Amino acid sequence: MAETTTTLHCANHPDRETMLRCNRCDKPICYQCAVRTPVGYRCKECVRGQQAVYFNANRFDLLIAAAIGVVLGGALGGLGYAVLGFFGWISFIAAFFVGPITGGIIAEAIRWSVRRRRARRLNLVAAGACVVGAALGGGLVAVLFSGALLPTLLLIGMAASTIYARLR
Ligand SMILES: [Zn+2]
Ligand SMILES: [Zn+2]
Repeated sequence: MAETTTTLHCANHPDRETMLRCNRCDKPICYQCAVRTPVGYRCKECVRGQQAVYFNANRFDLLIAAAIGVVLGGALGGLGYAVLGFFGWISFIAAFFVGPITGGIIAEAIRWSVRRRRARRLNLVAAGACVVGAALGGGLVAVLFSGALLPTLLLIGMAASTIYARLR
């Protein structure tokens, strides 16, 4: 993580540099603002359970993740279905290797667009959106001509499980 190399400023004391973040909402906090809990350092707002603004941002993050997942998953599903058919049995091996790579790329794209904030269920939403997008993209291509269904399912399965694991 890049957290330790960049200089952060406490959210409550902008003049104070810190290397701590609240482990729940990711907000930079100084040692005075940090509350030590059994699960690590947290900001006072999170300890009190009063982070309404954070949860709004969260929902928006999930929306961004879902949108990116659907679009990139759609491209992957459409392309996979169209292209994998040309490779016969090798397409299964290709899907086995390409799936995790593309899943990793999609996961990083989502992580980057939510500014590395961590949101609850982000991985589930992103992986689910990718599957939905892939079904739409693959279905769209399937209307035009018949491609390879089974290797595409493998491809999407590998990609989605990678996204799920990466964004956990
Ligand atoms: Zn502070
Ligand atoms: Zn917090």
